Amino acid sequence: MSILIVIEESNGAVHRMSREAVVAGQALGRDFDLPVSAVLLGHDTSDLCQSLDSTQLHEILQADHPLLGSYSSDGFSRALAQVIESESPRYVIAGHTYMVRDFFPRVSAKLNIPFLADNIAYRVEGGALTLTKQILAAKLVADVAPAGDGPCIISFQSAAFQEEDVAEGSEATARQVSISLEDGSIRTTSEEPFQEAASAVDLSSAEVIVSVGRGIGKEENLPLAQELAAAMGAELAASRPVVDSGWLEGYHQIGSSGQTVAPKLYFALGISGAIQHVVGMKGSKNIVLINKDPDAPLFELADYGVVGDLLEIVPKLKKALQA
Ligand SMILES: Cc1cc2nc3c(=O)[nH]c(=O)nc-3n(C[C@H](O)[C@H](O)[C@H](O)COP(=O)(O)OP(=O)(O)OC[C@H]3O[C@@H](n4cnc5c(N)ncnc54)[C@H](O)[C@@H]3O)c2cc1C
Repeated sequence: MSILIVIEESNGAVHRMSREAVVAGQALGRDFDLPVSAVLLGHDTSDLCQSLDSTQLHEILQADHPLLGSYSSDGFSRALAQVIESESPRYVIAGHTYMVRDFFPRVSAKLNIPFLADNIAYRVEGGALTLTKQILAAKLVADVAPAGDGPCIISFQSAAFQEEDVAEGSEATARQVSISLEDGSIRTTSEEPFQEAASAVDLSSAEVIVSVGRGIGKEENLPLAQELAAAMGAELAASRPVVDSGWLEGYHQIGSSGQTVAPKLYFALGISGAIQHVVGMKGSKNIVLINKDPDAPLFELADYGVVGDLLEIVPKLKKALQA
């Protein structure tokens, strides 16, 4: 029995949410006293394997096959199902990425094992695992528990764990696991990773974000936020009304129907703190809010807050930053 973490590659490195999954897996390993290993699905994954060298893991399994060179749900689900069958882990852990959403349900169906998806936390009581997930557009949280002792696959929402908490230390042993795939078994091909526009930024990996809400008032005021973001070296994000008004493109939107982010600093301008927005940014390490309403719900989450008019404060702040 072991804990097995599925590692995803992103631009040649370990995906941020896979590093968060490592934190979850290591914590589960401590709680259940089980060895924690990682699996890399792909072809020629030695660089990725090396980048995990210093991570505290028992083994790094390389499920290597030429047909896994580019992602396909057929290939990845067959490969992971084979690894689970040969390794019999108790829990298979991953970040709830788009790729995991795509191929984990197939693994679950192939092996007839549970897939508990998109959890935000877990706890162990009397040796039993309970996971917590948000339901009904994050208005409620629900507890779910896997049935039986067999393998169970679990994904965690972005920022449920902090990637900085990855335990480093012992040297993991790399091991090849053999995968059998026939040419005809891959029925789909992947195109280049989707990017909405040439200028679209991956906010999920941004360290500093300036986020604009309806409090900005009108489109003509947007340069205030853009200039502040430029002065801070930050990416620009927005709440949904700003996107719905057509002031910024959809890929800037943070929240339940937008991106989930976990920057070191989330600087919110005129955002009230509706739950659909908060689920997308609550994993931020530091939250700063400027809002003229002292009762705005986001103040409850903010580390620092300024009650005031952003149209007065932001230009002064920008000037101070540029001085
Ligand atoms: C199914 C569904 C999905 C949704 N998905 C998302 C999502 O992904 N992301 C998202 O953001 N929302 C989403 N929403 C919308 C969400 O419910 C809120 O309506 C939205 O987040 C509110 O955005 P806001 O905070 O910018 O605007 P408001 O709630 O209107 O807040 C504006 C704030 O600005 C302050 N303000 C006004 N003027 C100033 C000023 N001059 N200076 C300082 N402060 C000022 C006000 O006090 C207020 O607190 C979704 C809703 C539904 C139903």
